[in-house]
Amino acid sequence: MNRYIFMRTLKKAFLVGARTVGRYFTRSSFLPSPVPILSIECTNFCNSKCVYCANSNMQTPRQHLDMEKYKKAIDEFVAMGGVDINFNSCIGEPLLDPTLVEKIKYLRKYPQLKFEGFFTTLQWLHKFNLGEFFEMGNAAITISTSLSGKEKYCEFFGEDLYEQALKNILTLIEENKKRANPLKILFMIVPTNEPIDAVVKHPDFYLVDSLTDKAATRGLKAFVDDWFGKVNLPSYMRKRPIYFRAFAPCAIMLKRLVVFSNGKIGICPSRDYEQKLVLGDISRDSLKDAWNSEPLNKLRNDWRKKNIIPDICLHCGRYEVAQRK
Ligand code: SF4
Repeated sequence: MNRYIFMRTLKKAFLVGARTVGRYFTRSSFLPSPVPILSIECTNFCNSKCVYCANSNMQTPRQHLDMEKYKKAIDEFVAMGGVDINFNSCIGEPLLDPTLVEKIKYLRKYPQLKFEGFFTTLQWLHKFNLGEFFEMGNAAITISTSLSGKEKYCEFFGEDLYEQALKNILTLIEENKKRANPLKILFMIVPTNEPIDAVVKHPDFYLVDSLTDKAATRGLKAFVDDWFGKVNLPSYMRKRPIYFRAFAPCAIMLKRLVVFSNGKIGICPSRDYEQKLVLGDISRDSLKDAWNSEPLNKLRNDWRKKNIIPDICLHCGRYEVAQRK
């Protein structure tokens, strides 16, 4: 493992360990936020078949989130005092949603909302009017990619779209610069079967890294998740460690809600791609009721007091350690 990634991983492991100990002695660590952060799954369509993603074996039907359901969710979120919102979801490429720009524009109705952005492969940016794309303001665009050439990209993403994705990355960087960098451009660069030194020396990696003040280097990942064992990772990929979680509910249950592309209101935008932890449906239920609902409180309390952990959380590599408040 590269020294930089090793040191970063070591630091993270230390911080997680320290937080794990500290939070047990702080009762408020496990109190839910008064208002959640809302994730909107604009779509659960994704053309890529990444080797580290459960997209290929997802059973949930694919669809885009209907505009009326979306507007109801946003209106209710604002009414309950919500501020932080993003389009991150476990599976789905937001740029494949034909109403993405309309959805971004609708957020401007409420200046108090803080749009956090979304994850994307950026393979489809060229389909957008960039003037409209930049209407999202000061959001973060996290680009999931590999910058090790066409062959590695096809192997990883299951799509022969390397040149297109790279061109879109360079376009986004350039257009962002022209506008005084309103977007925060981040990267998630998955490990390949090459030594890390070869990855960082690839001319495309070097180019993108130099244009983004080393954002590509900061985006190098040491670990990937295997989605509770649903994904058979290639042998050279390191599985994310499973953190200790007895009597300590995942922080996601304490601070987030998600509206899935079929309108279901769920608890976990991070890994619940088959919608096991669902609280209602935005067509008929309210976000506020869902956030304050008995089933959600019971899940948190059962985990905290009786160590009853939902099945999907038992071996989940995306478990988040609760922060001390
Ligand atoms: S443990 Fe995993 S599945 Fe459970 S709430 Fe946290 S991220 Fe979601």
